[in-house]
Amino acid sequence: MKTEVSGAEWNARVDLAAFFRIVANFGWDDLLLAHISARLPDEHAYLVNPYGLLFAEITASSLLKVDFEGQKLLPSEYEISPEANVIHGAILAGREDVNCVAHVHTVAGTAVSSQKEGLLNISQQSMIVALSLAYHDYEGVVFDPAEAPSLQADLGDKQHMILRNHGLIAVGATVSKAFYGLYNLQRSCEMQVASQGQDAELIPISDAVMEKTRKMVAERFSDPNARDFLWEAKLRELRKSQPDFEN
Ligand SMILES: [Zn+2]
Repeated sequence: MKTEVSGAEWNARVDLAAFFRIVANFGWDDLLLAHISARLPDEHAYLVNPYGLLFAEITASSLLKVDFEGQKLLPSEYEISPEANVIHGAILAGREDVNCVAHVHTVAGTAVSSQKEGLLNISQQSMIVALSLAYHDYEGVVFDPAEAPSLQADLGDKQHMILRNHGLIAVGATVSKAFYGLYNLQRSCEMQVASQGQDAELIPISDAVMEKTRKMVAERFSDPNARDFLWEAKLRELRKSQPDFEN
């Protein structure tokens, strides 16, 4: 596969395969049911997990290449899942600034998604998420392309979305940024669920601190060419522990 595709596509495959392994290592996968995608530069196409492989099995070569209607552009014994086709097709088509979309059904994420108040602003992670957070009401299992417009409208220009009664979505301009968004969103939900189990009154973060954080985050992450230490570290870790992700 490496010699048959462009360098840009191969790099996208390696990053996306790494993202699947990271999610599996954290235990955020859900049998065959969650999915992550990455847009291919200069093509009307994206990469996504084949329905049939566990996240822990995914390699750079095994990722599906599909168009925005979910049709395979390279041969594979697998297909895209119907839910992935609707969610990723809708978000990637609707957001030119987004190149990676991650969707999971974690226990903590789904627990918070079912709470009327949604994500509480009680931790540093939730504070970062709250700066760019959307909600999407449950319309049933996402097999129907008719849900695409409401998914696009609800996400708007946000980086994180809680799907009520269902799970989480994080998007980013790069695989690394989508991973960092998913990490913060998932950790926020874990912290919320853990806090709620303590039967103690929770302290919300103030509007003043939120405003200060908004400015700080805008400055800190303003350089798109800044070296990505986090992603470099996660790739290093994987290359030692499970180098087959790059196969
Ligand atoms: Zn789902």
